[in-house]
Amino acid sequence: MKPKEIFDVSIIGGGPAGLFSTFYSGCREMKVKLIEYHSVLGGKLNVYPEKMVWDVGGMDPAPAHQLVDRLVRQANIFQPKIVLNTKVTSISKDEEGIFTVNTQTGEEHYSKAIILAVGGGILEPTRLEIDGAERFEVTNLHYTVKSLAQFKGKRILISGGGNSAIDWANELESIADKVYLTYRKDLLKGHEAEISKLQKSSVECLLNTKIERLVAAPDHETIQQVILSDQNQDEFIRIDVDEVIINHGFERERELVENSPIPIEMASPRTVAGNSKGETSVAGLFAAGDILEHDGKLRLIAGAFTDGATAVNQAKLFIEPGASNRGIVSTHNDRFKEKNKEIFKTAKLDKLIVK
Ligand SMILES: Cc1cc2nc3c(=O)[nH]c(=O)nc-3n(C[C@H](O)[C@H](O)[C@H](O)COP(=O)(O)OP(=O)(O)OC[C@H]3O[C@@H](n4cnc5c(N)ncnc54)[C@H](O)[C@@H]3O)c2cc1C
Repeated sequence: MKPKEIFDVSIIGGGPAGLFSTFYSGCREMKVKLIEYHSVLGGKLNVYPEKMVWDVGGMDPAPAHQLVDRLVRQANIFQPKIVLNTKVTSISKDEEGIFTVNTQTGEEHYSKAIILAVGGGILEPTRLEIDGAERFEVTNLHYTVKSLAQFKGKRILISGGGNSAIDWANELESIADKVYLTYRKDLLKGHEAEISKLQKSSVECLLNTKIERLVAAPDHETIQQVILSDQNQDEFIRIDVDEVIINHGFERERELVENSPIPIEMASPRTVAGNSKGETSVAGLFAAGDILEHDGKLRLIAGAFTDGATAVNQAKLFIEPGASNRGIVSTHNDRFKEKNKEIFKTAKLDKLIVK
């Protein structure tokens, strides 16, 4: 049997907290593995890829997908092991203090410490409950807006009555040919200012309606018409469309903590109880980002970065008690010496660091 490969730290979750923790573990010369459920990294930023993020220190406003690219490049600097498409189902710890990360595929991962960076758990958009709808997901049925350009000059139907649906209706109205909003209730649920903006716009709000059928184009690949039922009038409305966006919220899956035999104390159904050092009720298991709760918690991307570096420093101390409790600043960290030389030599800054 192959001997177990034991990493210093396993980081679970590839959102901002997990990605920055991965980079920072490299700065602290730890052997690190990052495990992510989805096929792509970035966490919740993938929910709003085209939205502009303004509140990350020192960074020009940028769409979230750009921030993901930068975080992924940074996380890869010290060549960590990255495992995608892998759902972590539970974490256990043996008598020698080695953690086992159990996954849905049956594969196990071993490490001396863990950083739990799972955000609010696994997020999946609530899908349209219409038989066969999934086949249009590769063409014109969307659950997130990945590229604004794709919607330019189009007839768009958005389904939903919360902040995301209203927000996208307002944003797409200026570039689309026509935007329709269908919502099954008679009152929208978003922010007041956004609702009044919507009401003053050219968006056609079809309240008390819901999607009944998607009519395929002759090629069978795209939706060409959506049939809505009008709940008040007992009749159907037909809308010709180019694109359909569904904003019916998200389903969250958080079985990981519940399934784990180690006693991970929760602060709330959504968050793990911890402290400002990222420590949890289990020695050697640290938390970072949205999953962590403590006094003074900053629930922002910037907060996830701070949590990540703090958790890494504590994990380092846990596995190597003689180590410093903090890393050397990057300007003086030998790990960057060779990389700096390369930067100065080639003057190609963007090769290694993000401008
Ligand atoms: C619409 C919206 C807009 C926002 N705008 C801003 C903003 O402008 N500025 C700002 O600072 N913050 C913003 N935020 C908040 C910010 O996105 C979060 O604070 C941040 O993403 C938290 O990062 P995280 O790494 O802790 O968690 P997440 O980003 O949620 O990442 C967690 C990752 O863990 C993975 N995961 C979960 N469970 C498992 C499992 N069992 N196995 C394997 N992988 C798992 C998930 O798939 C996910 O990739 C916004 C949030 C939303 C929803």
